[in-house]
Amino acid sequence: MAGRVWPEAYKKLGISPIINAQSWVTALGGSIMRPEVLQAMDDAANAFVDVKKLNLAAGEVVARSCEAERGLVTAGCSAAQVLMVAACMTGLSEANVEQLPDPTGMKNEVVLFKGQRNRYDKAFVTPGATLVEFGTEESATTDDLENAINENTACVAFVVAPFMPEGIGIEETIRVAHEHGVPVIVDAAAEVPPRSNLSKFHKLGADMVAFSGGKGIGGPQSSGLLAGKADLMEAVVMNSLNLDSSIAGIGRPMKVSKENIIGLVTALQLFTDSDETAEWEQWSSKAQLVAERLAGIDGVRVVVEDDPAKRQGPQPVLYFEDDYKGPSIAEIKNRLETGDPGIFVGGGSRDEINIVMVNVQDGEEIIIADRMNEILRG
Ligand SMILES: *Cc1c(COP(=O)(O)O)cnc(C)c1O
Repeated sequence: MAGRVWPEAYKKLGISPIINAQSWVTALGGSIMRPEVLQAMDDAANAFVDVKKLNLAAGEVVARSCEAERGLVTAGCSAAQVLMVAACMTGLSEANVEQLPDPTGMKNEVVLFKGQRNRYDKAFVTPGATLVEFGTEESATTDDLENAINENTACVAFVVAPFMPEGIGIEETIRVAHEHGVPVIVDAAAEVPPRSNLSKFHKLGADMVAFSGGKGIGGPQSSGLLAGKADLMEAVVMNSLNLDSSIAGIGRPMKVSKENIIGLVTALQLFTDSDETAEWEQWSSKAQLVAERLAGIDGVRVVVEDDPAKRQGPQPVLYFEDDYKGPSIAEIKNRLETGDPGIFVGGGSRDEINIVMVNVQDGEEIIIADRMNEILRG
């Protein structure tokens, strides 16, 4: 593990070391919190606190970072997705908050471009809503969106993610939705860094925007941040933080611990103060090293790519040409994952292997290059 000590607590459970070259994926642990974040969480764990007051205060930090009217720490981006839709459904009605997930009498349709359907969109219907798709898997028109909106529309959802098609684009989506008096909610879970994205979608007029706290921001893995317009965010609070009410809201199973609130806020402040250029350079030099060591393999073209619409930081991408005769992508991945340490790289859903550097700890890039060479040149 390149000088890092494998934690005793994992060892005791029989869990072996892995290298995460697949990005901030939940399945591999999200991200690693900085010592300052862990220290703040440790401090927070040692005292009782009014959790609602704490999250409202933390929400002010979130709102400032996102340049939004109001913010809140959530139990992940998925939890924020549930809360955004719930808020659009209930508004400020306490009776509605109590009634969810039964949507009777409430607007309950979430409109989403078909090309943005994804494995996380179940969260949009969790509060009792229904998804209404528009367009095709590839594209959509303004008319498609217009036709999908009706008097039952609670909100239009927009998803920003690597390789995700944009349909009519976020600006046109917002324009059309607002023309119909319908709010736009955004799932941008893994779109930071760059930190300018924290405020980007708010500036474009989105009503609420959600990010994961445990991905690029480096907060607790089960944290997230949600920010947006004040009235909708008040409805979010009602659906999630009515902790003293006799009937808790739909957000109760997604509670945020005091430690996670403090962890997220601390990570967010470090993230917004960080030297993005220096971090990018580090990823870039690791990517270059691996690319150089994998150069000249028959039938394999290695390119370092960093297009932010597709890639999470600079990373070597391996393309397999027609004359490639080595093991299949699935076989390569299997051999990497079952080795010691297990190495998890991206790719497979497309015809490529990509080696994402954002979570590769110092020195691990050499282990990755060596193992790839064993498999590809062996
Ligand atoms: C990771 C991800 C989520 C879920 O975020 P959590 O913080 O893990 O709840 C939702 N949407 C997209 C596009 C994601 O990448």
